[in-house]
Amino acid sequence: MLGDFEVRRVNRVPYWWDGGAIFGVVPKTLWSRRLPADELNRVPLALNCYLLRTGEHSILIETGLGDKWDARARERMKLPAVTESLPEAIASQGIDPESIDIVINSHLHWDHCSGNTIVTHGIAAPAFPRARYYTSRSEWNHAHERNLRDAISYIDANYDPLVESGRMILVDGDHEVVPGVWMRVAPGHNRDMMIVTAESHARTFCFLSDLVPTAAHVQPGWVAAFDLFPLQTIESKLRWLGAAAGGEWVCGFGHDAAAFAKIVTDTKTRFSTVGIE
Ligand SMILES: [Zn+2]
Repeated sequence: MLGDFEVRRVNRVPYWWDGGAIFGVVPKTLWSRRLPADELNRVPLALNCYLLRTGEHSILIETGLGDKWDARARERMKLPAVTESLPEAIASQGIDPESIDIVINSHLHWDHCSGNTIVTHGIAAPAFPRARYYTSRSEWNHAHERNLRDAISYIDANYDPLVESGRMILVDGDHEVVPGVWMRVAPGHNRDMMIVTAESHARTFCFLSDLVPTAAHVQPGWVAAFDLFPLQTIESKLRWLGAAAGGEWVCGFGHDAAAFAKIVTDTKTRFSTVGIE
């Protein structure tokens, strides 16, 4: 509980991805102490989705992996043979998935929004039928630019059917979704990725998404090779991690095995994390 808000991680799908891609220019001798690699140089990560309940709204932050993956893709990521769907995972925790009335996508990379829709016989239906979905308009535009660098990160069936049916709201810049819950642009990972904060009675939860994909990435210079604008990542991290440390925020990461952490700093440019039960 944070003030009047309740936050929980409702889904954590373990998967493995290339350590070099995750840690960019950081030498393996350093990052492998934090996340040891397997024989194919993959490191263990998680696909995290959070549920924020405000009393009035049930807000899902990210929808993760979805079910649009064949056996080859699953093997590449060392995914479990069977993963329950996100509505199933939510229901198994005693929460009615139909109670979710808002879904926020921090950005539209497939690993953050593939659970938005369920595709049957080529038709994509919303996985959360009562929900309004939110993402950045500028990110949505970028997804359609099909840049050679990152076109592979986008699957239109995750969002276009929702935009076409009026279920997905495209926001222009920083946006207050409901009182106390904000999406704010934090450039670096890409141009338009948004961080989600929820504040109630001076207590704050912050979903850092891929600005800080794991706790190992709290060092400002530890920037994933994926990031399109690494210098902006560093700038955004200094700003957001500074605020998180100063405000004793409870933070969630896009891809860490742990659900929550607090950020601590002593020098304003070096950070570390403290786990939270
Ligand atoms: Zn991403």
